[in-house]
Amino acid sequence: MKTINETNSQKEENEKIDWSIKNFEIGKPLGKGKFGRVYVAREIKSKYVVALKVIFKEQIEKYKIHHQLRREMEIQSSLKHPNILRLYGWFHDNERIFLILEYAHGGELYTLLRQNGFLSETQAATYIASLTQALTYCHEKNVIHRDIKPENLLLDHEGRLKIADFGWSVQSRSKRHTMCGTLDYLAPEMVENKAHDYAVDNWTLGILCYEFLYGAPPFEAESQADTFRRIMKVELSFPSTPSVSAEAKNLISRLLVKDSSKRLSLQKIMEHPWIIKNANPTGTCN
Ligand code: ATP
Ligand code: MG
Repeated sequence: MKTINETNSQKEENEKIDWSIKNFEIGKPLGKGKFGRVYVAREIKSKYVVALKVIFKEQIEKYKIHHQLRREMEIQSSLKHPNILRLYGWFHDNERIFLILEYAHGGELYTLLRQNGFLSETQAATYIASLTQALTYCHEKNVIHRDIKPENLLLDHEGRLKIADFGWSVQSRSKRHTMCGTLDYLAPEMVENKAHDYAVDNWTLGILCYEFLYGAPPFEAESQADTFRRIMKVELSFPSTPSVSAEAKNLISRLLVKDSSKRLSLQKIMEHPWIIKNANPTGTCN
């Protein structure tokens, strides 16, 4: 089957294509975000199934997210990795902007987590390894994601993890100062609004690993102020249920380290015994 971006020559061809809504059959809605709706769609000529994200220009003007969206589009379309949701292209009409996205048939990882309560060590390690590989690729390209949370992680038809939503990511060589993201997943240096760098994503991996295995993020609290305090003190505790291996706890403890320079590196995560023992090398877990 011919696909939208399968071969290099086709890729070049695709980048030249002036897509329009006429190229697509629109199917069922997949979800609704702050600024747009997402539909499953099929490119008529190739029959290739994609997700089409529709954003109203009026919303972009109202919330002045022009630059953010432009950045999200540029970053995401430049990233080509099996664990990063592809952005194949975009087009617009008078009222709307359409993003042609890779279709993640398995939906949100968040849904899976909430349905099951928590994940198995195999699932958790497979997702952490996939995320680590995707982040290694991003960091090599000087991209820091900064908004990795279960809602932004989608699954394809084989259960392979795909990072979506590059709205908050930055492309940078230097330390950054900007407040962004949901508090629960933020590293201490970001909560304090200090300069931060790539190591913020390593912290988030520790948070996610904990949440995958226990079902809730480690510093969850009644109020934002309490979450803030718990993050700053790195008030980490491991409940007795569900039962989690000592190796998993070891990995989490070595990522949730206040001093960002002392956090386990992405390479060391891939070499960690818990990952070696549990992660499925194909990245799939259905
Ligand atoms: P925002 O990006 O504005 O913070 P959001 O991430 O919730 O919000 P969208 O990215 O617009 O919103 O996506 C809305 C929902 O649609 C997602 O949560 C997801 O369930 C679904 N969805 C988005 N993109 C895809 C995709 N490529 N494949 C399958 N489902 C998708
Ligand atoms: Mg999202």
